[in-house]
Amino acid sequence: VRRNPGESEFHQAVREVLESLGPVLSKHPELTRHKIIERICEPERQVIFRVPWVDDRGEVQLNRGFRVQVNSALGPYKGGLRFHPTVYLGTIKFLGFEQVFKNALTGMPIGGGKGGADFDPKGKSEGEIMRFCQSFMTELHRHLGEHTDVPAGDIGVGERELGYMFGQYKRLTNRYESGVLTGKGLAWGGSLVRKEATGYGAVYFVADMLRVRGEKLTDKTCVVSGSGNVALYASQKLEQLGAHVVACSDSSGYVHDPDGIDLALLKQVKEVERARISEYAARRGRRSRFVPGGNVWEVPCQIALPCATQNELNARDAATLVKNGCRAVAEGANMPTTPDGVRVFLESGVAFGPGKAANAGGVATSALEMQQNASRDSWSFEHTEKRLAEIMTNIHRTCYDTAEELGVSGNYVVGANVAGFLRVARAMIALGVI
Ligand code: NDP
Repeated sequence: VRRNPGESEFHQAVREVLESLGPVLSKHPELTRHKIIERICEPERQVIFRVPWVDDRGEVQLNRGFRVQVNSALGPYKGGLRFHPTVYLGTIKFLGFEQVFKNALTGMPIGGGKGGADFDPKGKSEGEIMRFCQSFMTELHRHLGEHTDVPAGDIGVGERELGYMFGQYKRLTNRYESGVLTGKGLAWGGSLVRKEATGYGAVYFVADMLRVRGEKLTDKTCVVSGSGNVALYASQKLEQLGAHVVACSDSSGYVHDPDGIDLALLKQVKEVERARISEYAARRGRRSRFVPGGNVWEVPCQIALPCATQNELNARDAATLVKNGCRAVAEGANMPTTPDGVRVFLESGVAFGPGKAANAGGVATSALEMQQNASRDSWSFEHTEKRLAEIMTNIHRTCYDTAEELGVSGNYVVGANVAGFLRVARAMIALGVI
């Protein structure tokens, strides 16, 4: 806390991992000898930079950009870029820290990092978005490379923004280096299934958690928070597997649609028109209603998928969900449940899949995109989705087995933290004091 003042989300993420590690540290004294904990909490490099750009009125605007390269023991830094007005160094450091263990859990050769800016894409024109992305990449490009650091999207950064950034990278370096970014469009080096991967992966994870308890997704009532990339494709996979999504949200409120969310309409409103969720309810009619400023966790469900942002589900929300019969929770977002909320779920016997494990399908498919770029190949949807499903099953098994070995059966938080940590720590020891 003294070394990283005022970065409360970073402290929260670090504390959560360290709390899981007690038994591992006493079993492996070499971790202490090599100062692995101290080293793993200190990013390898942190870049903070000025992002000036000109708005449509001709006025100069200024934002702050970040790239935190946390750990490269397993491979090049890998992790998304977030554009949101609340972004500051503490946000990026928490996300980068989580990313290291998540990436390790995928079993792929990728290190961890994260970046972004305090830029608010809401209400900006196409031209403004493009000029911002170009200015952002004008500085960021010197820190990237397919063997060095490979960003992707996150909140506020999707295919459109990645396109403008890739274009600027190509222009500045005079290299068509496909592997420098992931989440690209299909026409310029992207991978099928990347768009769907985080949401689909989170649903595979829930399905696996239910399976070990002898339950199925079929006919379960689900609530998904958010209505961005992760939320949309989590909802799609839930529907495909026979579950029913009855509510979703954005930062202005939630929609309750007891007949089941109409996904085609939701995608039209959010992906094509980039409109608010209230627009969905207005167009859908029937029994659907928009609750301005409402808390989506009040809607009764058996499965809950927080897919919006950090700390969006607290202990009170968790207690409400448990009271209403919720059986399983998987975090599509990063750290959406507060530590008190996690405790409520674990103590109530709810199957709880932490983001590090449950939302790792996105970065895993990014690693598959890097493989395709490196071999100048592109795989079919079926093949790529099969790989994603296998990876998620492996992550689930790794977390489950690790928890069993440690005598905390069914605790995926401990399982994910310990399994991810040990993979990174072993590589760090092998690479020496660097
Ligand atoms: P998007 O920008 O596509 O969507 C974000 C959604 O969350 C929007 O509905 C947004 O509503 C809502 N939201 C964002 N901030 C807030 C807030 N402060 N309060 C309430 N709602 C909010 O982002 P993604 O779907 O890509 O990301 C969602 C989460 O998933 C993040 O935590 C991200 O880190 C995580 N994640 C994403 C991956 C990916 O592949 N995209 C991979 C792994 C994790 P509004 O439009 O009103 O802001």
